[in-house]
Amino acid sequence: MSSAPLNDLSRLCIHTITTKPWSIEEAAENYSAEGVRGITVWRDALSGRDIRKTGDMLRQNGLSVVSLCRGGFFPSKEPLKRDMAIDDNRRAIDEAFKLGANLIVLVCGADPSQPLEDSRTQIYEGISEILADAESAGVKLAIEPLHPMYADTRSAINTIAQANDLAEKINSPFVGVAVDVYHLWWDPQLENEIKRCGEHQHLMAFHICDWKSPTVDLLNDRGLMGEGCIPIRKIRSWVEASGFNGFIEVEIFSNIYWKQEQSEFLKKIIAAYRIHA
Ligand code: ZN
Repeated sequence: MSSAPLNDLSRLCIHTITTKPWSIEEAAENYSAEGVRGITVWRDALSGRDIRKTGDMLRQNGLSVVSLCRGGFFPSKEPLKRDMAIDDNRRAIDEAFKLGANLIVLVCGADPSQPLEDSRTQIYEGISEILADAESAGVKLAIEPLHPMYADTRSAINTIAQANDLAEKINSPFVGVAVDVYHLWWDPQLENEIKRCGEHQHLMAFHICDWKSPTVDLLNDRGLMGEGCIPIRKIRSWVEASGFNGFIEVEIFSNIYWKQEQSEFLKKIIAAYRIHA
């Protein structure tokens, strides 16, 4: 048994996609009743709703709206698709503004029909193009590096070093990095690069779950904290040593947990957070 102290829930945030079977209204009510204080909203959860009223509803439930997931997907070999991505990112900024979220997480994208270097150039151009919109809305953009297994279609930014490089190249207080343990735990440079990220005031979000061994689905088999091999508390200690003191966000995509009774799953999340986060 670990002798580390249990976490209280004051910094626990849960992503709506973690409890995907629930509507955002059900998520808000249940998170709040269990003492969760933060929520990150996936855009699909807003479908068909008045976004301002939804933001008010979340705050009335005592929840801080930590971020909106997700923008990005900038690269394409086809210029028309790149333009469509810019439009969609502008819509995401507008949605975040209306919701009262001051951060959008960027899953930057990749196009397998072109070299990764080209995709990275287009990511840089895409973020640069929406930056003025983000600034005027007061919404920050966090580049989330994704595990290299997603380099074909989801992100050409696969290490925190690449995310730091990109954020430093853009050099705006409105562009930083989201650290997700699922994507980054394996990287021997992780501690150094988290430190570097903090030194530039670029560390804007911290996402947790666990890497199950074996992982049976490349997308939807994430584990609860403590179920896998990620040293979550060690990584959290690096993140906090870098100056980050924001919410700790539980982001689990799981075909297994989505099939369970979600109120039972929520209790498991909270128990795992107390012990392992
Ligand atoms: Zn994440």
